[in-house]
Amino acid sequence: MEEKNKIPQATAKRLPLYYRFLENLHLQGKTRVSSKELSDAVKVDSATIRRDFSYFGALGRKGYGYKVKYLLDFFRDILSQDQETAVALIGVGNLGTAFLRYNFSKNNNTKIIKAFDSNQDLVGTEIGGVAIEHVDQLEESLTGIEVVILTVPGEVAQPIADSLVKAGVRGILNFTPARINVPTDVRVHHIDLSVELQSLIYFTDHYPTV
Ligand code: NAD
Repeated sequence: MEEKNKIPQATAKRLPLYYRFLENLHLQGKTRVSSKELSDAVKVDSATIRRDFSYFGALGRKGYGYKVKYLLDFFRDILSQDQETAVALIGVGNLGTAFLRYNFSKNNNTKIIKAFDSNQDLVGTEIGGVAIEHVDQLEESLTGIEVVILTVPGEVAQPIADSLVKAGVRGILNFTPARINVPTDVRVHHIDLSVELQSLIYFTDHYPTV
């Protein structure tokens, strides 16, 4: 735990990216990887990769690279990949339905196990094997779930977030355009496709890959 707290946030955010790539390499039977190969695959410059890895005491040797299995075991531990993390989803509309159908089936140990909506027509139906409950049940039904995906209309994001906080949720992946206020011990990551696209366009214009 102590160790985790020392990792800079930017590094921590890149860990799942590294993890996925290393897992693929391992499946292909590769035992070593250079920071250049990693860099090409995950599109993070190799100096950043070396710095990131140095936080974990993983110092690649020149001309040898990093041991895939060692890194994988190490990251799995940090990311708790061995443990399945239960996630809930609030708002089973276009976006929510797509997430429920996808339900992180590949390469991932997160799983949506509960879904909530206010639409009575949806309550009691199942999507992707998950039964949809009424949002009024949120606080009592969420016990033990600490991470939630929020795909409701922006107008109701704040009151829902308040209920989530009461239910003990510690992380919210917010897809709504609303900025939500939560206590400092609750983390909100905001995902906005248009911002991501603008960023992609900026990088393709200013930092061509070849
Ligand atoms: P949608 O209207 O299809 O779905 C919203 C769902 O929320 C509906 O099923 C509705 O019944 C439910 N809902 C409404 N009030 C509720 C409440 N109080 N409690 C529980 N459920 C409630 O919308 P969508 O297209 O799936 O979009 C969902 C959200 O994601 C919106 O806020 C939208 O602006 C946003 N969005 C974000 C991105 C992005 O890039 N982040 C992209 C598309 C949409």
